Amino acid sequence: MRVLIAGAGLGGLCLAHGLHRAGVDVEVFERAASPDAFAAGYRIHIDPDGDRALRSCLPSRQVADYEAACGRPPRTFAFVDERLRELLTAEIAPPGADSGHRSINRYRLRRILLSGLDERVRFGREIVGFEEPHEVNARFADGSAATGTVLIGAEGTHSPTRAQLLPHAERVDTGVDGISGRVVPDGPLADLVPSAFADGPGLVLAPGGRNLFVATHEDYLVWGLSARRETLPAGGIGGLSPDGLHCLARELTARWHPRLRHLVDAAKEVSGFTIKTSVPVPPWPAGRVTVLGDAIHSMPPSRGIGANTALRDADLLRRTLTGGGDPVAAIAAYEREMRAYGFAAVRASVQAQRQGLIANRPAFAMSKAALRMLNALPSVRDRVFR
Ligand SMILES: Cc1cc2nc3c(=O)[nH]c(=O)nc-3n(C[C@H](O)[C@H](O)[C@H](O)COP(=O)(O)OP(=O)(O)OC[C@H]3O[C@@H](n4cnc5c(N)ncnc54)[C@H](O)[C@@H]3O)c2cc1C
Repeated sequence: MRVLIAGAGLGGLCLAHGLHRAGVDVEVFERAASPDAFAAGYRIHIDPDGDRALRSCLPSRQVADYEAACGRPPRTFAFVDERLRELLTAEIAPPGADSGHRSINRYRLRRILLSGLDERVRFGREIVGFEEPHEVNARFADGSAATGTVLIGAEGTHSPTRAQLLPHAERVDTGVDGISGRVVPDGPLADLVPSAFADGPGLVLAPGGRNLFVATHEDYLVWGLSARRETLPAGGIGGLSPDGLHCLARELTARWHPRLRHLVDAAKEVSGFTIKTSVPVPPWPAGRVTVLGDAIHSMPPSRGIGANTALRDADLLRRTLTGGGDPVAAIAAYEREMRAYGFAAVRASVQAQRQGLIANRPAFAMSKAALRMLNALPSVRDRVFR
Protein backbone atom coordinates (compact mmCIF):
# COMPACT_ATOMS: atom_id res chain seq x y z
CA MET A 1 0.00 0.00 0.00
CA ARG A 2 1.19 3.50 -0.82
CA VAL A 3 -0.44 6.34 1.13
CA LEU A 4 -0.41 9.94 -0.09
CA ILE A 5 -1.05 12.59 2.57
CA ALA A 6 -1.80 16.18 1.54
CA GLY A 7 -0.77 18.62 4.31
CA ALA A 8 2.07 18.43 6.85
CA GLY A 9 -0.03 19.76 9.75
CA LEU A 10 -0.38 18.08 13.13
CA GLY A 11 -2.83 15.45 11.87
CA GLY A 12 -1.03 14.65 8.59
CA LEU A 13 2.40 14.31 10.22
CA CYS A 14 1.12 12.20 13.12
CA LEU A 15 -0.49 9.81 10.63
CA ALA A 16 2.68 9.73 8.51
CA HIS A 17 4.72 8.61 11.53
CA GLY A 18 2.21 5.93 12.48
CA LEU A 19 2.15 4.49 8.97
CA HIS A 20 5.91 4.79 8.44
CA ARG A 21 6.54 2.92 11.70
CA ALA A 22 4.20 0.15 10.52
CA GLY A 23 6.27 -0.20 7.33
CA VAL A 24 3.74 1.47 5.01
CA ASP A 25 5.08 3.47 2.06
CA VAL A 26 3.89 7.01 2.86
CA GLU A 27 4.58 10.40 1.28
CA VAL A 28 3.44 13.81 2.59
CA PHE A 29 2.90 16.78 0.25
CA GLU A 30 3.01 20.20 1.89
CA ARG A 31 2.11 23.52 0.26
CA ALA A 32 4.59 25.58 2.33
CA ALA A 33 7.98 26.00 0.69
CA SER A 34 9.92 24.96 3.82
CA PRO A 35 9.47 24.21 7.54
CA ASP A 36 10.44 27.84 8.30
CA ALA A 37 7.01 28.87 7.02
CA PHE A 38 5.54 27.16 10.11
CA ALA A 39 6.85 29.83 12.50
CA ALA A 40 3.35 31.15 13.33
CA GLY A 41 1.43 30.06 16.41
CA TYR A 42 2.26 29.60 20.02
CA ARG A 43 0.80 27.38 22.70
CA ILE A 44 -1.46 24.42 22.10
CA HIS A 45 -3.34 22.36 24.63
CA ILE A 46 -3.05 18.59 24.17
CA ASP A 47 -5.75 16.53 25.88
CA PRO A 48 -5.75 12.79 26.71
CA ASP A 49 -7.03 11.90 23.18
CA GLY A 50 -4.25 13.84 21.50
CA ASP A 51 -1.64 12.58 23.96
CA ARG A 52 -2.67 8.95 23.38
CA ALA A 53 -2.59 9.41 19.60
CA LEU A 54 0.89 10.95 19.65
CA ARG A 55 2.22 8.14 21.83
CA SER A 56 0.69 5.47 19.57
CA CYS A 57 1.97 6.94 16.32
CA LEU A 58 5.38 8.46 17.08
CA PRO A 59 8.67 6.58 17.43
CA SER A 60 10.14 6.58 20.95
CA ARG A 61 12.66 9.35 20.17
CA GLN A 62 9.94 11.75 19.08
CA VAL A 63 7.79 10.77 22.09
CA ALA A 64 10.74 11.67 24.34
CA ASP A 65 11.17 15.01 22.52
CA TYR A 66 7.44 15.70 22.86
CA GLU A 67 7.53 14.96 26.61
CA ALA A 68 10.58 17.18 27.08
CA ALA A 69 8.94 20.06 25.20
CA CYS A 70 5.71 20.03 27.22
CA GLY A 71 5.33 22.71 29.85
CA ARG A 72 4.15 22.00 33.40
CA PRO A 73 0.83 20.12 33.02
CA PRO A 74 -2.19 22.23 33.93
CA ARG A 75 -3.86 21.23 37.22
CA THR A 76 -6.96 23.43 37.17
CA PHE A 77 -9.28 25.28 34.82
CA ALA A 78 -10.76 28.46 36.31
CA PHE A 79 -13.76 30.59 35.40
CA VAL A 80 -13.75 34.12 36.82
CA ASP A 81 -15.71 37.27 36.09
CA GLU A 82 -14.22 40.48 34.70
CA ARG A 83 -13.50 41.68 38.26
CA LEU A 84 -11.44 38.49 38.82
CA ARG A 85 -14.04 37.05 41.19
CA GLU A 86 -14.06 33.27 41.21
CA LEU A 87 -17.02 31.57 39.53
CA LEU A 88 -15.68 28.03 39.36
CA THR A 89 -12.30 26.33 39.62
CA ALA A 90 -12.25 22.73 38.46
CA GLU A 91 -9.44 20.31 39.20
CA ILE A 92 -8.38 18.69 35.91
CA ALA A 93 -6.84 15.75 37.78
CA PRO A 94 -6.55 14.72 41.42
CA PRO A 95 -3.32 15.98 43.05
CA GLY A 96 -0.33 13.86 41.97
CA ALA A 97 -2.20 12.08 39.16
CA ASP A 98 -1.29 12.47 35.49
CA SER A 99 -4.28 14.12 33.79
CA GLY A 100 -3.02 13.40 30.27
CA HIS A 101 -3.39 17.14 29.60
CA ARG A 102 -0.31 18.94 28.25
CA SER A 103 0.69 22.36 27.02
CA ILE A 104 3.22 22.66 24.21
CA ASN A 105 4.46 25.27 21.78
CA ARG A 106 2.73 24.55 18.48
CA TYR A 107 5.79 25.35 16.36
CA ARG A 108 7.97 23.07 18.49
CA LEU A 109 5.47 20.23 18.22
CA ARG A 110 5.42 20.63 14.43
CA ARG A 111 9.23 20.47 14.32
CA ILE A 112 9.22 17.33 16.47
CA LEU A 113 6.63 15.76 14.16
CA LEU A 114 8.73 16.63 11.11
CA SER A 115 11.84 14.98 12.52
CA GLY A 116 12.39 11.42 11.40
CA LEU A 117 10.23 11.98 8.28
CA ASP A 118 12.79 13.97 6.30
CA GLU A 119 12.72 11.66 3.31
CA ARG A 120 8.92 11.43 3.34
CA VAL A 121 7.82 15.10 3.34
CA ARG A 122 7.85 17.10 0.09
CA PHE A 123 7.66 20.86 0.58
CA GLY A 124 6.33 23.27 -2.03
CA ARG A 125 3.78 20.74 -3.31
CA GLU A 126 0.26 22.21 -3.20
CA ILE A 127 -2.42 19.68 -4.03
CA VAL A 128 -5.13 21.02 -6.34
CA GLY A 129 -7.20 17.93 -7.10
CA PHE A 130 -7.27 14.18 -7.69
CA GLU A 131 -8.57 11.46 -9.99
CA GLU A 132 -9.66 8.12 -8.64
CA PRO A 133 -9.83 5.49 -11.35
CA HIS A 134 -8.25 2.30 -9.83
CA GLU A 135 -5.55 3.97 -7.80
CA VAL A 136 -5.53 7.65 -6.77
CA ASN A 137 -3.75 10.23 -8.86
CA ALA A 138 -3.06 13.48 -6.94
CA ARG A 139 -2.42 16.65 -8.94
CA PHE A 140 -0.28 19.56 -7.75
CA ALA A 141 -0.16 23.28 -8.55
CA ASP A 142 3.30 22.94 -10.14
CA GLY A 143 1.88 20.55 -12.74
CA SER A 144 3.35 17.43 -11.14
CA ALA A 145 1.36 14.37 -10.00
CA ALA A 146 1.70 11.40 -7.64
CA THR A 147 0.00 8.03 -7.61
CA GLY A 148 -0.98 6.04 -4.52
CA THR A 149 -3.37 3.42 -3.20
CA VAL A 150 -5.19 6.01 -1.08
CA LEU A 151 -5.12 9.78 -0.59
CA ILE A 152 -5.67 11.49 2.78
CA GLY A 153 -6.61 15.19 2.66
CA ALA A 154 -5.11 16.78 5.79
CA GLU A 155 -4.78 20.34 4.44
CA GLY A 156 -6.79 22.08 7.16
CA THR A 157 -9.82 24.31 6.77
CA HIS A 158 -9.41 25.15 3.06
CA SER A 159 -8.81 21.55 1.98
CA PRO A 160 -8.99 21.13 -1.82
CA THR A 161 -9.43 17.39 -1.23
CA ARG A 162 -12.60 18.02 0.80
CA ALA A 163 -13.82 20.55 -1.78
CA GLN A 164 -13.65 17.88 -4.50
CA LEU A 165 -14.74 14.87 -2.39
CA LEU A 166 -17.58 16.60 -0.53
CA PRO A 167 -18.46 19.77 -2.46
CA HIS A 168 -21.61 20.17 -0.35
CA ALA A 169 -19.65 20.34 2.94
CA GLU A 170 -19.99 23.83 4.38
CA ARG A 171 -17.99 26.12 6.68
CA VAL A 172 -19.98 28.95 8.20
CA ASP A 173 -19.18 32.11 10.09
CA THR A 174 -20.18 31.85 13.79
CA GLY A 175 -20.54 35.65 14.06
CA VAL A 176 -17.73 35.77 16.62
CA ASP A 177 -14.44 37.65 16.25
CA GLY A 178 -11.26 36.90 18.19
CA ILE A 179 -8.20 38.93 19.10
CA SER A 180 -5.20 37.13 20.53
CA GLY A 181 -2.11 38.46 22.24
CA ARG A 182 1.17 37.13 23.55
CA VAL A 183 2.88 38.55 26.63
CA VAL A 184 6.55 37.90 27.36
CA PRO A 185 7.21 39.62 30.69
CA ASP A 186 10.50 41.32 31.56
CA GLY A 187 10.36 39.89 35.09
CA PRO A 188 9.06 36.56 36.46
CA LEU A 189 5.86 35.39 34.74
CA ALA A 190 4.31 34.55 38.13
CA ASP A 191 4.23 38.26 39.04
CA LEU A 192 2.03 38.95 36.03
CA VAL A 193 -0.42 36.06 36.23
CA PRO A 194 -3.58 36.50 38.34
CA SER A 195 -3.69 33.75 40.98
CA ALA A 196 -6.80 32.18 39.40
CA PHE A 197 -4.62 31.13 36.44
CA ALA A 198 -1.51 30.12 38.37
CA ASP A 199 -2.21 26.37 38.13
CA GLY A 200 -3.77 26.20 34.68
CA PRO A 201 -5.66 28.08 32.00
CA GLY A 202 -8.99 29.77 32.46
CA LEU A 203 -11.74 31.94 31.06
CA VAL A 204 -12.86 35.41 32.09
CA LEU A 205 -16.60 35.66 31.50
CA ALA A 206 -17.58 39.30 30.96
CA PRO A 207 -20.90 41.04 30.35
CA GLY A 208 -21.96 42.07 26.86
CA GLY A 209 -21.11 38.74 25.20
CA ARG A 210 -17.32 38.79 25.69
CA ASN A 211 -14.73 36.52 27.22
CA LEU A 212 -10.98 36.28 27.60
CA PHE A 213 -9.10 32.98 27.55
CA VAL A 214 -5.80 33.06 29.46
CA ALA A 215 -3.05 30.41 29.47
CA THR A 216 0.58 30.37 30.48
CA HIS A 217 3.37 28.35 28.93
CA GLU A 218 6.91 28.24 30.34
CA ASP A 219 7.91 31.90 30.27
CA TYR A 220 5.07 33.56 28.36
CA LEU A 221 1.33 34.04 28.51
CA VAL A 222 -1.26 34.05 25.75
CA TRP A 223 -4.74 35.49 25.82
CA GLY A 224 -7.63 35.29 23.39
CA LEU A 225 -10.46 37.82 23.58
CA SER A 226 -13.70 36.71 21.88
CA ALA A 227 -16.76 38.84 21.22
CA ARG A 228 -19.97 38.63 19.28
CA ARG A 229 -19.40 40.74 16.19
CA GLU A 230 -22.66 42.68 16.52
CA THR A 231 -21.47 43.98 19.92
CA LEU A 232 -18.23 45.41 18.48
CA PRO A 233 -17.68 48.99 17.34
CA ALA A 234 -17.49 49.38 13.53
CA GLY A 235 -19.11 45.95 13.13
CA GLY A 236 -16.08 43.78 13.86
CA ILE A 237 -12.34 43.41 13.47
CA GLY A 238 -12.29 43.37 9.65
CA GLY A 239 -9.53 45.57 8.21
CA LEU A 240 -7.88 46.40 11.57
CA SER A 241 -4.08 46.45 11.81
CA PRO A 242 -2.34 44.74 14.79
CA ASP A 243 -2.22 48.15 16.51
CA GLY A 244 -5.91 48.70 15.76
CA LEU A 245 -6.73 45.26 17.19
CA HIS A 246 -4.71 46.03 20.31
CA CYS A 247 -6.58 49.33 20.80
CA LEU A 248 -9.91 47.54 20.38
CA ALA A 249 -8.91 44.86 22.93
CA ARG A 250 -7.96 47.62 25.40
CA GLU A 251 -11.26 49.40 24.77
CA LEU A 252 -13.32 46.23 25.29
CA THR A 253 -11.61 45.48 28.61
CA ALA A 254 -11.36 49.08 29.88
CA ARG A 255 -13.65 48.46 32.86
CA TRP A 256 -12.16 45.12 33.86
CA HIS A 257 -9.93 44.37 36.83
CA PRO A 258 -6.59 46.25 36.58
CA ARG A 259 -4.59 42.98 36.48
CA LEU A 260 -6.56 41.79 33.45
CA ARG A 261 -6.20 45.17 31.79
CA HIS A 262 -2.48 44.94 32.38
CA LEU A 263 -2.32 41.54 30.63
CA VAL A 264 -4.13 42.92 27.60
CA ASP A 265 -2.00 46.03 27.58
CA ALA A 266 1.33 44.19 27.91
CA ALA A 267 0.84 42.03 24.79
CA LYS A 268 3.55 42.48 22.15
CA GLU A 269 2.15 40.32 19.35
CA VAL A 270 -1.54 40.85 18.61
CA SER A 271 -3.58 39.28 15.83
CA GLY A 272 -7.23 38.87 14.92
CA PHE A 273 -9.38 36.10 13.48
CA THR A 274 -13.02 35.49 12.63
CA ILE A 275 -14.32 32.22 14.04
CA LYS A 276 -15.86 29.79 11.58
CA THR A 277 -17.07 26.25 11.97
CA SER A 278 -17.75 23.27 9.74
CA VAL A 279 -21.31 21.98 9.44
CA PRO A 280 -21.70 18.22 10.06
CA VAL A 281 -22.04 16.29 6.79
CA PRO A 282 -24.33 13.23 6.42
CA PRO A 283 -22.52 9.92 5.65
CA TRP A 284 -21.06 9.56 2.15
CA PRO A 285 -19.92 6.42 0.26
CA ALA A 286 -16.33 5.46 1.10
CA GLY A 287 -13.64 5.37 -1.59
CA ARG A 288 -9.87 5.65 -1.87
CA VAL A 289 -9.84 9.29 -0.79
CA THR A 290 -10.66 10.60 2.68
CA VAL A 291 -10.07 13.63 4.90
CA LEU A 292 -8.94 14.21 8.47
CA GLY A 293 -8.71 17.01 11.03
CA ASP A 294 -9.78 20.55 10.17
CA ALA A 295 -10.24 19.45 6.56
CA ILE A 296 -13.51 17.81 7.63
CA HIS A 297 -14.45 18.95 11.15
CA SER A 298 -13.03 22.43 11.78
CA MET A 299 -14.53 23.96 14.91
CA PRO A 300 -14.31 27.09 17.08
CA PRO A 301 -11.28 27.01 19.45
CA SER A 302 -13.61 27.33 22.48
CA ARG A 303 -12.80 23.86 23.86
CA GLY A 304 -9.24 23.52 22.56
CA ILE A 305 -9.96 20.19 20.89
CA GLY A 306 -9.52 20.81 17.14
CA ALA A 307 -5.93 19.56 16.99
CA ASN A 308 -6.67 16.78 19.46
CA THR A 309 -9.47 15.54 17.23
CA ALA A 310 -7.12 15.70 14.21
CA LEU A 311 -4.57 13.60 16.13
CA ARG A 312 -7.28 11.13 17.12
CA ASP A 313 -8.24 10.82 13.43
CA ALA A 314 -4.61 10.12 12.57
CA ASP A 315 -4.37 7.32 15.10
CA LEU A 316 -7.68 5.77 14.05
CA LEU A 317 -6.74 5.89 10.38
CA ARG A 318 -3.35 4.36 11.15
CA ARG A 319 -5.12 1.45 12.86
CA THR A 320 -7.71 0.85 10.15
CA LEU A 321 -5.22 1.19 7.26
CA THR A 322 -2.70 -1.17 8.82
CA GLY A 323 -5.34 -3.78 9.73
CA GLY A 324 -4.48 -5.86 6.67
CA GLY A 325 -7.86 -5.58 4.90
CA ASP A 326 -9.12 -3.79 1.81
CA PRO A 327 -8.13 -0.08 1.89
CA VAL A 328 -11.62 1.11 0.94
CA ALA A 329 -13.13 -0.95 3.79
CA ALA A 330 -10.47 0.53 6.10
CA ILE A 331 -11.46 4.05 5.04
CA ALA A 332 -15.16 3.22 5.51
CA ALA A 333 -14.47 2.00 9.08
CA TYR A 334 -12.44 5.16 9.80
CA GLU A 335 -15.10 7.50 8.39
CA ARG A 336 -17.92 5.82 10.35
CA GLU A 337 -16.17 6.38 13.68
CA MET A 338 -14.61 9.75 12.81
CA ARG A 339 -17.95 11.27 11.75
CA ALA A 340 -19.47 10.38 15.14
CA TYR A 341 -16.79 11.82 17.45
CA GLY A 342 -15.56 14.52 15.01
CA PHE A 343 -18.94 16.15 14.49
CA ALA A 344 -19.78 15.67 18.20
CA ALA A 345 -16.63 17.73 18.90
CA VAL A 346 -17.85 20.41 16.45
CA ARG A 347 -21.26 20.60 18.17
CA ALA A 348 -19.68 20.71 21.64
CA SER A 349 -17.29 23.50 20.57
CA VAL A 350 -20.08 25.58 19.02
CA GLN A 351 -22.16 25.12 22.17
CA ALA A 352 -19.22 26.02 24.46
CA GLN A 353 -18.60 29.16 22.41
CA ARG A 354 -22.27 30.14 22.72
CA GLN A 355 -22.30 29.50 26.50
CA GLY A 356 -19.17 31.60 26.96
CA LEU A 357 -20.56 34.62 25.08
CA ILE A 358 -23.94 35.38 26.60
CA ALA A 359 -24.95 38.98 25.83
CA ASN A 360 -28.41 38.87 27.42
CA ARG A 361 -28.06 40.25 30.99
CA PRO A 362 -30.49 37.99 32.91
CA ALA A 363 -29.21 34.91 31.07
CA PHE A 364 -25.60 35.92 31.83
CA ALA A 365 -26.42 36.39 35.53
CA MET A 366 -28.09 32.97 35.62
CA SER A 367 -25.14 31.29 33.92
CA LYS A 368 -22.72 32.79 36.48
CA ALA A 369 -24.99 31.69 39.34
CA ALA A 370 -25.04 28.15 37.92
CA LEU A 371 -21.22 28.07 37.84
CA ARG A 372 -21.01 29.31 41.44
CA MET A 373 -23.51 26.66 42.55
CA LEU A 374 -21.56 23.90 40.81
CA ASN A 375 -18.37 25.22 42.39
CA ALA A 376 -19.89 24.61 45.81
CA LEU A 377 -20.19 20.88 45.00
CA PRO A 378 -16.54 19.87 44.37
CA SER A 379 -17.09 16.17 43.64
CA VAL A 380 -19.81 16.88 41.02
CA ARG A 381 -17.87 19.86 39.65
CA ASP A 382 -14.63 17.96 39.07
CA ARG A 383 -16.41 14.96 37.57
CA VAL A 384 -18.30 17.21 35.13
CA PHE A 385 -15.18 19.08 34.06
CA ARG A 386 -12.89 16.08 33.77
C1 LIG B 1 -6.57 30.52 18.22
C2 LIG B 1 -6.63 29.03 18.11
C3 LIG B 1 -6.23 28.25 19.20
C4 LIG B 1 -6.29 26.84 19.12
N1 LIG B 1 -5.90 26.11 20.20
C5 LIG B 1 -6.05 24.77 20.18
C6 LIG B 1 -5.68 23.96 21.32
O1 LIG B 1 -5.21 24.47 22.35
N2 LIG B 1 -5.88 22.60 21.23
C7 LIG B 1 -6.40 22.02 20.11
O2 LIG B 1 -6.60 20.79 20.10
N3 LIG B 1 -6.71 22.76 19.00
C8 LIG B 1 -6.54 24.11 19.01
N4 LIG B 1 -6.84 24.83 17.89
C9 LIG B 1 -7.27 24.15 16.65
C10 LIG B 1 -6.06 23.57 15.91
O3 LIG B 1 -5.10 24.57 15.63
C11 LIG B 1 -6.49 22.90 14.59
O4 LIG B 1 -7.65 22.15 14.81
C12 LIG B 1 -5.38 21.98 14.06
O5 LIG B 1 -4.23 22.72 13.74
C13 LIG B 1 -5.86 21.19 12.86
O6 LIG B 1 -4.83 20.34 12.43
P1 LIG B 1 -4.80 19.77 10.95
O7 LIG B 1 -3.64 18.85 10.90
O8 LIG B 1 -6.14 19.27 10.57
O9 LIG B 1 -4.57 21.05 10.01
P2 LIG B 1 -3.44 22.15 10.03
O10 LIG B 1 -2.68 22.13 11.31
O11 LIG B 1 -4.13 23.42 9.63
O12 LIG B 1 -2.43 21.71 8.89
C14 LIG B 1 -2.75 21.76 7.53
C15 LIG B 1 -1.47 21.74 6.69
O13 LIG B 1 -1.82 21.59 5.32
C16 LIG B 1 -1.08 22.52 4.55
N5 LIG B 1 -1.85 22.80 3.32
C17 LIG B 1 -2.88 23.64 3.15
N6 LIG B 1 -3.35 23.58 1.90
C18 LIG B 1 -2.58 22.69 1.25
C19 LIG B 1 -2.57 22.18 -0.09
N7 LIG B 1 -3.46 22.60 -1.00
N8 LIG B 1 -1.65 21.24 -0.42
C20 LIG B 1 -0.74 20.81 0.51
N9 LIG B 1 -0.69 21.27 1.78
C21 LIG B 1 -1.62 22.18 2.15
C22 LIG B 1 -0.89 23.72 5.46
O14 LIG B 1 0.20 24.52 5.05
C23 LIG B 1 -0.66 23.03 6.79
O15 LIG B 1 0.69 22.73 6.98
C24 LIG B 1 -6.77 26.23 17.93
C25 LIG B 1 -7.14 27.02 16.83
C26 LIG B 1 -7.07 28.40 16.91
C27 LIG B 1 -7.51 29.21 15.72
